[in-house]
Amino acid sequence: GQCVAVCPTGALTEVNNIKNVWDAIDDDNKKVVVQIAPAVRVALGEEFGMEIGSIVTGKIVTALRKLGFDMVFDTDFAADLTIMEEANEFIDRLQSGENLPILTSCCPAWVKFIEHQKPELLNHPSSCKSPQQMFGAIAKSYLPKKLNKKPEDMYVVAVMPCVAKKFEASREELSVDNIQDVDTVITTRELARMIKEAGINFTNLEEDDFDHPLGESSGASVIFGTTGGVLEAALRTAYEWITKDTLEKVEFKELRGIKGIKEATLNINSINVNVAVVCGLGNARNVLEQIENGTCKYHIIEVMACPGGCVGGGGQPYHNGDFDIIKKRAQGLYKIDKNKPLRKSHENPSIIKLYDEYLESPGAHKAHHILHTHFVKRQK
Ligand code: SF4
Repeated sequence: GQCVAVCPTGALTEVNNIKNVWDAIDDDNKKVVVQIAPAVRVALGEEFGMEIGSIVTGKIVTALRKLGFDMVFDTDFAADLTIMEEANEFIDRLQSGENLPILTSCCPAWVKFIEHQKPELLNHPSSCKSPQQMFGAIAKSYLPKKLNKKPEDMYVVAVMPCVAKKFEASREELSVDNIQDVDTVITTRELARMIKEAGINFTNLEEDDFDHPLGESSGASVIFGTTGGVLEAALRTAYEWITKDTLEKVEFKELRGIKGIKEATLNINSINVNVAVVCGLGNARNVLEQIENGTCKYHIIEVMACPGGCVGGGGQPYHNGDFDIIKKRAQGLYKIDKNKPLRKSHENPSIIKLYDEYLESPGAHKAHHILHTHFVKRQK
């Protein structure tokens, strides 16, 4: 929003975004759907005095229903979708040898950084939209068809651990046929404020389940919320697609933890695939310089702007850089993954159905039109 220029803390934007959500909920002509990002479910409880890292997914679903949302969905569903498209793109590039390394592009602060700092390397980021945007694109195309609604009847709210996601939602390159994927983004802290404003006693809430079909997800999707998780999720799928074998050991422990740069070499079909996970924009700059001067040995790199990934995002309950807090939130996400019956994105039945009924296959024309984007050179 415009007020960012006059309000450096963003406080006015926050108030406006909350008001947008209340107005949409009050508008009888709108079907208001909400998605929550992985990192939100292991942090919101802190705003209500619960232990750090508490998993409060079910309580959030109940709270969102009480606030008046028509349907409560999960960004994790779209994270699985992102993996379908991104693993496919990664395998294409591995086979052709072009535009390697592929860089993840689901962190808008990182995308903006490379657009400003190294626009000559914009052939490297994956063209996949982020889960937030893929969710919105599906909620305004496939979902209205199912509900007998028009795309313009839908209003999509995203609850994110992140302030940069507000900017991402407004990027022109991300709209489909002039319709914005996501209408309003609120942060974890703003959701806490709305729950308090509504007088809901959060800690006492019963747990509930997401609506379907955009509420189903694999364990791979939930670890998107911590550094290393997107790459781990992508490898679970890419490995099986390349080898046509079952990946038995789904946990890539070497990609976990809060270190700024982590790396591993995996043998997939007798090819050594070098992978890296980077968090923090200073570390990202190092990797970009390696690509520039031809010394980069990696084939795929996950990049997140926030140290520790989205669990430590700027829209989360304040953690003041305390890595113990960030680690406990990450442990919560790994626990959710471990307890999921399905842990690979391509096994999510709702995703399989979405391709069967609507998108055809990863990278197909339709999927490309609504789930992919392009990047823009921006002024330094
Ligand atoms: Fe947002 Fe930080 Fe996550 Fe990037 S790493 S998407 S800036 S919360």
